Amino acid sequence: MTTIGDKLQQVRTRIEKACAACGRDAASVRLLAVSKTFPEAALREAHAAGQTAFGENYVQEGVAKIQAMADLRGQIEWHCIGPLQSNKTRVVAEHFDWVHSIDRLKIAQRLSEQRPAGMAPLQLCLQVNVDAGQNKSGVAPAEALALARQVAELPNVKLRGLMAIPEPAEGFEAQRELFLRATALFDEMKAAGLPLDVLSLGMSADLEAAVAAGSTMVRIGTAIFGGRTYL
Ligand SMILES: *Cc1c(COP(=O)(O)O)cnc(C)c1O
Repeated sequence: MTTIGDKLQQVRTRIEKACAACGRDAASVRLLAVSKTFPEAALREAHAAGQTAFGENYVQEGVAKIQAMADLRGQIEWHCIGPLQSNKTRVVAEHFDWVHSIDRLKIAQRLSEQRPAGMAPLQLCLQVNVDAGQNKSGVAPAEALALARQVAELPNVKLRGLMAIPEPAEGFEAQRELFLRATALFDEMKAAGLPLDVLSLGMSADLEAAVAAGSTMVRIGTAIFGGRTYL
């Protein structure tokens, strides 16, 4: 039987090979384990195998796990990676360490206002809609720089970079080309003076193309935990 620990190791090896193939240091790519729909026991197994950053899409589900795993709070970084509605910002600001899906100023403003005093700034990425696909989440590339400048001014959050989820593409080159649109925007923002250091790109099916395009954080669910069942 392949354990979660084995699968984590396989993913780490994929990241190392992908980095080697394009001359990057493997330490420049972080692994975020996307644990949506999986029970606390699976996350604990991954943690015991050395995984310390977890991504959740659904706010209630994520907060339930954060609370159930409060004994590990200082050892785990929790990332909210799903679309975020205004009425959920308070609970996210109170529990998570990161949000990858900022696509409008209002959400970032609420997170900043609602971040409890005494907690570290909430780390943010803007989600950019690089291919204007059916997946309508994300800010349009043409509006991303203006949004980034506004978010960067907010007090209790820290803008770290960009996240993108391109429509599934067939083959390495097509996948890489879509990711490179996010990389180009990231480089443009840095050239404009924003101190960004995180490009959240790549999932189980396309992490190699994402690494080749410059990803610094891959978000991997299926390849670690197996297929998801939605009830
Ligand atoms: C579910 C999800 C992932 C992980 O996808 P896999 O294909 O299972 O690796 C990554 N990012 C986001 C935003 C997701 O919703």
